[in-house]
Amino acid sequence: MKLSNLARNMGGSAIRAMYNEALKMTDTVSFTVGEPDFITPQVVIDEACDAWQRGLTHYTPNAGIPELRQAIAEYHKDDLKPDFQSEILVTCGAMESLQLALLTLADPADEVILITPAWANYFGHIAMCGAKLKEVRVTEETDFVPTVEQVRQAITPKTKLIMINSPSNPTGAVIDAETLKGLAELVVEHDLFAISDEIYSRLVYDRLKYTSITSFPGMRERTVYISGFSKMFAMTGWRLGYTIANPDIIRAMTKLHENSASCLPAPTQLAGARALRDCQDDVDRMRDIYEKRRNLIFDLVSDMPGVKVKKPKGAFYLFVSIKELGIKSADFCMDLLRKTGVVTVPGTGFGDAGEGYIRITYATSDENIIEGMRRMKQYLVEKLG
Ligand code: PLP
Repeated sequence: MKLSNLARNMGGSAIRAMYNEALKMTDTVSFTVGEPDFITPQVVIDEACDAWQRGLTHYTPNAGIPELRQAIAEYHKDDLKPDFQSEILVTCGAMESLQLALLTLADPADEVILITPAWANYFGHIAMCGAKLKEVRVTEETDFVPTVEQVRQAITPKTKLIMINSPSNPTGAVIDAETLKGLAELVVEHDLFAISDEIYSRLVYDRLKYTSITSFPGMRERTVYISGFSKMFAMTGWRLGYTIANPDIIRAMTKLHENSASCLPAPTQLAGARALRDCQDDVDRMRDIYEKRRNLIFDLVSDMPGVKVKKPKGAFYLFVSIKELGIKSADFCMDLLRKTGVVTVPGTGFGDAGEGYIRITYATSDENIIEGMRRMKQYLVEKLG
């Protein structure tokens, strides 16, 4: 059987590899999957249950039910100010938005700039549209934020768009307003697009003011803004995300969506609208808890020998340098797992630029953080003799 080139070349997730290995063990403490450990707010669950009971079991409009698009427009009334009829598309998670955005904007001859280490699925999405990946590599020396000059140097006549993810998975980096402004100017100057994945925009710490690239001159019409309910409202399993972009892009993405997921269940969408309307306090409550956990885990990791860590400003990931140990990150993570039961993800799961790092997700309880980091410290102390 000969499968397509795409299917044969699509990489497996490093998270899965660790997860599968961990399944063979007992007494593990996991810091792998990037999802909130909270349960979706009860009113959201009730809203969906009620809708199912009322028999809302049919297909819905491809772009999303008006109630949800109106709620999204209302939520963004002070920043993107989208027209709910023509500038919003509801998708199967931010994941589908990302895939459709790339398929809508990039052809195989085009180059797509990606700041790496980057969320693993971006590599898959770029491969699926056939475009050429152009990496801009960042390290902890610049807090995992690219310089405008680095990005300028990556631009060629074939560049079509740049992907932005701030706060970032896997590094937790938040791109500062000054750099975003510089990137926006590059996009306008070179007649490019930006795909801005802002799914973690509500998870920013230290009272930092969040800035979106869409806020700079000329960027609202050149940006495909992507977000979703997974991280904000602890709704990963609901598979609900959305795109805001200019009407031409939304129309094209909606056609592609019609040919893939088609539409989302009405109860899920009504639940999303309810979350946006009534659960903003829950978002703040969860954010405050993540911030406390970030402080806790940062202090614990900073106290370990052989590793270095910068305090992340957003999302719920710590990207820890193990370069001093001189071990490949995949080998380190596997050895740490087998000897201590602590499950982490090798930085190489986020591109080659992630070699020398491991990702630790802190969307887990204080008890897990304390126990997992105790084991990791002991492992490092013994290793370094
Ligand atoms: N974008 C980033 C940066 C993510 O980390 C994730 C999930 O981990 C997603 C998008 C996917 O979000 P969704 O669950 O809405 O598909």
